[in-house]
Amino acid sequence: MTVSPGGNAREAVAARGAAPGGASAPAARRNSRLTVLSGPSGVGKSTVVAELRRCSPDIWISVSVTTRRPRPGEVNGREYYFVDDREFDRMAAAGDLLEWAEFAGNKYGTPREPLRRRLAEGLPTLLEIDLTGARQVREAMKDDALFVFLEPPSWEELVRRLTGRGTEPPEVVERRLAVAREELAAVGEFDVTLVNTSVEDVCRQMVTLINSNQ
Ligand code: 5GP
Repeated sequence: MTVSPGGNAREAVAARGAAPGGASAPAARRNSRLTVLSGPSGVGKSTVVAELRRCSPDIWISVSVTTRRPRPGEVNGREYYFVDDREFDRMAAAGDLLEWAEFAGNKYGTPREPLRRRLAEGLPTLLEIDLTGARQVREAMKDDALFVFLEPPSWEELVRRLTGRGTEPPEVVERRLAVAREELAAVGEFDVTLVNTSVEDVCRQMVTLINSNQ
């Protein structure tokens, strides 16, 4: 298992038996096809996912539904399926979502059927979701998923990233920071922690994890 220069991948839960220092999945998780990437808002999860889409197009990434409005450059069906509240609530009530959560005033959920089909084929899949969603997936999948937490290099860096994006009004940034504080405290619930010092490094580590996770 390779460790990136600077050793910026480490096991969050060495107590579960994995040696610290590499982006390797704990033995108990090595047979699962599903990898869940979570971490605080603004840490760069979606940038990592965009890079994964670019450098490893063979990795299937679930496309969530959301009631958030598209940001510039986002394409319906690529980053998200953008739906209104009514359609989201209909999907949730019909059981079409594996998990869903409200985040900073918008709803986000994972469509169940495309993921089920993919897993039934025995193929590796990736979810990028918030902590509430990750907990629901843990409930639903038990040990059949590998949970990866993406950490910022520092709190100051996370604040800089959340403030610097410039796409959200100040009260939304404030709400996101409050959620981020809580999310950072949940790091111990995850199987592996990756520190987002470089998108390329994290992307490489994710590919290694996803490929060793089967
Ligand atoms: P953003 O609005 O920045 O794209 O996403 C806000 C948060 O929602 C991020 O933490 C992202 O990981 C999370 N998110 C995206 N899709 C889903 C989903 O399907 N379910 C849940 N629970 N969270 C999601």
